[in-house]
Amino acid sequence: MAALPRDTSVAVIGAGAMGAGIAQVAALAGHRVLLFDTRMGAADDARDKLVSTLAMLRDKGKLDATAAAAAGERIVAVHALGDCVSTGLVVEAIVEDLAAKRKLIAELDVIVSEATILATNTSSLSITALAAGSRHPARVVGMHFFNPVPLMPLVEVVRGLATADDVATTVFDTARAWGKTPVYARSTPGFIVNRCARPFYAEALRLLGERAVDPATLDAVMREAGGFRMGPCELMDLVGHDVNFAVTSSVYAAMFDDPRYRPSVIQREMVAGGRLGRKSGQGFYRYGEGAPAPVPATEAAVPAPASVAAHGDLGPAAALAARIGAVAATESTPPSGLGAAGALAIGDAWLVMGDGRTATARAAAAGVRDVVVFDLALDYATCRRIAVARADTCSDAGYAAAVGALQAGGFAVSRLDDVAGLAVLRTVAMLANEAADAAVEGIATAADIDIAMQKGVNYPRGPLAWADALGARFLCTVLANLAAHYGEDRYRLSPLIARRAQAGMPLVESR
Ligand code: NAD
Repeated sequence: MAALPRDTSVAVIGAGAMGAGIAQVAALAGHRVLLFDTRMGAADDARDKLVSTLAMLRDKGKLDATAAAAAGERIVAVHALGDCVSTGLVVEAIVEDLAAKRKLIAELDVIVSEATILATNTSSLSITALAAGSRHPARVVGMHFFNPVPLMPLVEVVRGLATADDVATTVFDTARAWGKTPVYARSTPGFIVNRCARPFYAEALRLLGERAVDPATLDAVMREAGGFRMGPCELMDLVGHDVNFAVTSSVYAAMFDDPRYRPSVIQREMVAGGRLGRKSGQGFYRYGEGAPAPVPATEAAVPAPASVAAHGDLGPAAALAARIGAVAATESTPPSGLGAAGALAIGDAWLVMGDGRTATARAAAAGVRDVVVFDLALDYATCRRIAVARADTCSDAGYAAAVGALQAGGFAVSRLDDVAGLAVLRTVAMLANEAADAAVEGIATAADIDIAMQKGVNYPRGPLAWADALGARFLCTVLANLAAHYGEDRYRLSPLIARRAQAGMPLVESR
């Protein structure tokens, strides 16, 4: 099956933010686009704005003049649904409401030919449920774009129970012909991205709920150590807490109250108080003129210790040891109970990579007092910041020695309360766990889940490839420690991670 021919018209229903973006992309790909909206004047306004956008892209040299003019001419605002009769593909991007979308699909059933594909841009509704309202459910398919449509490459092509294979393939090939990166997904709550991204917000809200860290510090750690483009708090402020809370609540309800997806009391309070984020002028941060810029907590400079000894195999943190100038110790194993194959000794203090336990628990298990745990980083060789936690038993001198060693390696050090799993580690572990379960449930392939998280929400690495770099066995340890610490089903291990750890095999098959 091939992409929709370029000489076939496409109808876009709903001329809001998403519909306009979809119209732009389809027109630039060479289709005549019929744009319809029930709100008076909305389709004409959207068309005029698109023509200006295309002219701006031309002026910036991003589009050649002929292409911009031709794409503008191909976008036609229509004023009745009946005008969409001779189209090969209809993409609906109307309000996110099951009844409204089902009504629209039923109306289209009698307007367009049986061969016309009916695609929906819904973010959260079941494709199966939407198709059930159609006389021809086999031609109903999800075509889920991301905002802003012209810039975000991902399109989730979502099959409901009844979606015909050739319909899904045509939409997949069409998305590719439009310059997008399509992935197949099954119709389940949140599809790939909106489901697999839940832990990014959920773990952040939990850390804030435990008062382990403030928003500015958490965001800085997630950006500067985790490599995420935005921290979770600033991202929730951008998306809007009302929207983010609604998506979380809908996935939670759709998953029959699985604690993995439980919404946060903190966020509900923010929504109740109208602190919706950027759009209301205040969320975790204040916006507008005179608003203070967020400042992360960073430890003051302390002297570098005389020497750091590297004991054993530091695994993923070997680059950190090299960066702070650690020298291999003569005796090579760290005290048992610290729970790491490798650790850094600075005088009497131990500096170890996180494993899902608190620093206090590790100090107690090892029978030592001065333990400082550092968080995961995307790349220990280059990251600018690192989060640490200090055992309750750790002396001031021991803590200062650990901080001094990290600062000597060029890290800004942010101290979190002694919370299990710190910030980046628990987030990445839970993102990988969710992605693994989505793969187990056949929502998409492991490789496609990784692509979706990189192309749909800009993650610096696919969560499953990230898990592979750390090792499935290490992930098992981290999640088991988090589960033991909290005693909650929320941190239960995905059977795929357990199996791959036992087999010593990667989660993502080589491509
Ligand atoms: P929007 O509110 O900006 O636009 C919706 C438009 O649909 C409005 O102009 C409205 O007048 C029109 N409309 C409502 N009912 C209609 C009907 N029956 N027939 C024709 N037009 C109708 O919304 P949006 O943000 O563009 O979202 C549209 C869809 O895309 C929703 O299903 C949403 O879940 C989904 N989506 C949104 C985003 C996002 O980030 N905004 C991302 C992916 C998917």
